[in-house]
Amino acid sequence: MKKLIFATTNENKLFEAKKLLKNYYDVVGLKEIGFEHKIIENKSSIIDNSVHKALFVKEKTGLNCFADDTGLEVDVLDGAPGVHSKRYAGIDASSEDNINKLLNSLQGVKNRKAQFKTVISLNIDEKIKTFIGICKGKILNKKKGEYGFGYDPIFVPEKSKLSFAEMTVEEKNKIGHRGIAIQKLFLYLTNLYSK
Ligand code: IMP
Repeated sequence: MKKLIFATTNENKLFEAKKLLKNYYDVVGLKEIGFEHKIIENKSSIIDNSVHKALFVKEKTGLNCFADDTGLEVDVLDGAPGVHSKRYAGIDASSEDNINKLLNSLQGVKNRKAQFKTVISLNIDEKIKTFIGICKGKILNKKKGEYGFGYDPIFVPEKSKLSFAEMTVEEKNKIGHRGIAIQKLFLYLTNLYSK
């Protein structure tokens, strides 16, 4: 089976991707291949970070790979925190710190519209291909739910009454940004595989 590196150290993301592609590709994470280079994510957009990671890992390993990058884009904040979602409240900020900063920025604001955006970049056979997953929704006034990670407790997707942190992983993946982008990657790869 062909090997495909997923440029991540996040076990949850890796587990999902392995499950989805198991009949077609041997998806392998960075820890499994002993990848020790630091990937610097300092580009000015989500797409640029994602492409950069896919280029960097291919350059260092010589292996086909894909990488992802995600951000939460809030309408009234002109798309912030966006590419800075991880470090919105500072370099060592926790999810709690980031959520508090965002809730403070939106205090008294009526327009709570926001979206999560994931960009997956596939670097395969000397070609780069990107897949975008978007989940539109709104930011709550306070946290709700115990599951998930990051901004999940304050984000409610459109047509849902539950926050992401009140959903199971399966429920979130069905409608979520990352699930949508991975499905697009899956369709592309299975098509490529059958050629
Ligand atoms: P990454 O590119 O997946 O590492 O995401 C960057 C940051 O965005 C994370 O540190 C989280 O704070 C946030 N984030 C990414 N995906 C999600 C999600 O599915 N739910 C909530 N927050 C997320």
